Amino acid sequence: MLDTADLIPALHTTFGFSAFRGVQEQVVRRVLGGQSTLAVMPTGAGKSLTYQLPATLLPGTCVVISPLIALMHDQLRSAEANGIRAASLTSADANREETIDRFRAGGLDLLYVAPERASQPHFRELLGAGQISFFAIDEAHCVSEWGHDFRPDYRALRPLMDSFGSVPRLALTATADAHTRADVLAQLGIPGDGLVIAGFDRPNIRYVISHRDSGFQQLRDLLKQQPGPGIVYAPTRRQVEDLAARLAEATGRRVLPYHAGLPVEERAANQAAFVASEDMVMAATVAFGMGIDKPDVRFVAHAGMPKSIESYYQETGRAGRDGDDALAVMFWAAKDFALARERLSELDESRRASERARLDALAMLVESPTCRRAMLLRHFGEDPPQACGNCDNCLEAPGVADGSVVAQKLLSAAYRTGQSFGIGHLEKVLVGASDDRVVQRGHDRLSVFGIASAEEARLIKPVARALQARGALVANEHGGLMLSGDARAILKGELPLAVVLPPAKGRRRSRGEAVANPVGNPLFEALRALRRELATEAGIPPYVIFHDATLREMATRRPASLAELGAIGGVGARKLEAYGDAFLSVIRQH
Ligand code: ADP
Ligand code: ZN
Repeated sequence: MLDTADLIPALHTTFGFSAFRGVQEQVVRRVLGGQSTLAVMPTGAGKSLTYQLPATLLPGTCVVISPLIALMHDQLRSAEANGIRAASLTSADANREETIDRFRAGGLDLLYVAPERASQPHFRELLGAGQISFFAIDEAHCVSEWGHDFRPDYRALRPLMDSFGSVPRLALTATADAHTRADVLAQLGIPGDGLVIAGFDRPNIRYVISHRDSGFQQLRDLLKQQPGPGIVYAPTRRQVEDLAARLAEATGRRVLPYHAGLPVEERAANQAAFVASEDMVMAATVAFGMGIDKPDVRFVAHAGMPKSIESYYQETGRAGRDGDDALAVMFWAAKDFALARERLSELDESRRASERARLDALAMLVESPTCRRAMLLRHFGEDPPQACGNCDNCLEAPGVADGSVVAQKLLSAAYRTGQSFGIGHLEKVLVGASDDRVVQRGHDRLSVFGIASAEEARLIKPVARALQARGALVANEHGGLMLSGDARAILKGELPLAVVLPPAKGRRRSRGEAVANPVGNPLFEALRALRRELATEAGIPPYVIFHDATLREMATRRPASLAELGAIGGVGARKLEAYGDAFLSVIRQH
């Protein structure tokens, strides 16, 4: 078998990279050694390289199973741009006959197919007529009912692969959860010792979690600070459309909607526009997901609370796959938790406890004054350092106050007023503001009237948020706050309550600095303009030609020859040949 020293030249020639990342090398070595493997790697870790590189080195064709045509064509484009001999066999491909001939003649490194094809006898015959180097199963969690994207067609893969028993398998997924992993191994017939797990950290993503006070304005400011491509996730279709229109209007940027209720053509067009764009924003529901293989997404914003930590991590993971700085911002409100907790009662008894645990974990994350990344990684079973230096709380420690006494006062005010008033009214009672409604109800005569000092008054809202997030206060259908969960223990002083104080007015330092590209560097801008021109001409997204990082390196190192240009990260042999002269001439002119 080849050793690493032999692999680096191939890595460099094909992809222009000078080193492997993380577990890539381990996975590639296993594949070259014929060992079946399940590689669990977070988004952006570079999964495609782990099958594409061996595919170019081994005799025969690597058969890649991928769940979505858009995803397949994306991968195909990138592979071809690197000079890899690849084709796809789907209902959307007009050149199927040609592809079949190429496969039979041994002229393909990669053959992409959709799982539906796997169960067809035709297809099995076809595979029998060529030489297969190995099977690569992308988005392998789709084979498991435990995963979030179960695809019954993936179940036909095992019988197909079993009929080519000696051909090794490489399954790939970003799914973190242990249950799903075990199931994927079993469903695809990969031995347990074939599991390779990469660390889940995405160090280039900066996590910022803020209370949603002005909502729309916070998003508008974010879009003004972040000029690159971004995704804004909103919980409902209506909110998506509303945000797309209002954000476009308020910022002058191109913001398009994406949700499952839009006509198929419009959805596809909006997605294609986003993939090709260097500055567009997509307002979307979580239906905008697996198909996005765009590496240069600079920010992902959540306009409302995500469903769980797992979904949050997956959704934010779509930012910064290219390794450049990226930002994940969540705007949450106590109301989001109140709603989610209310919905628990509609669930089957058997699912309630686990759903409640999901919400509690999210509440801990948003209310925490400590490192967000550490909390996230601990949630996925890792043992990270206490501070990451790249999240809001690490960059600027939030104020923390003991909210226990205020919590007791607030809970008793809610109790004494009959558990049917919202936070606005309770606050008035506590600070002793005798407006009509307070007087009418006789709440000015209660013992809790005016018991909060001016100092404490400041804490009422943050305390209410914390109580709602952890489920000690829940809203009834009229918005009245009722005691629940830990309320009794907190009221009796048995459980302390620490609250995080929002930063003083003005912007937090941690927001909106995640811009990796030099601003106003004429050479960099000229290189980008050339890239845009070449991309439009070829009908491919700009990032398929070169990533921003590659252009940045060109702008600083100013290579003067093809040999010097070829030493820059991301410039493989094929791209050097195709684009080298054009980029060198722009560099010479500046
Ligand atoms: P995933 O599918 O795991 O999300 P991709 O395969 O799309 O990740 O790779 C993410 C990005 O990382 C790609 O744009 C790719 O060019 C880049 N990349 C992959 N491997 C390397 C490497 N060894 N060195 C530098 N960049 C890499
Ligand atoms: Zn941190």
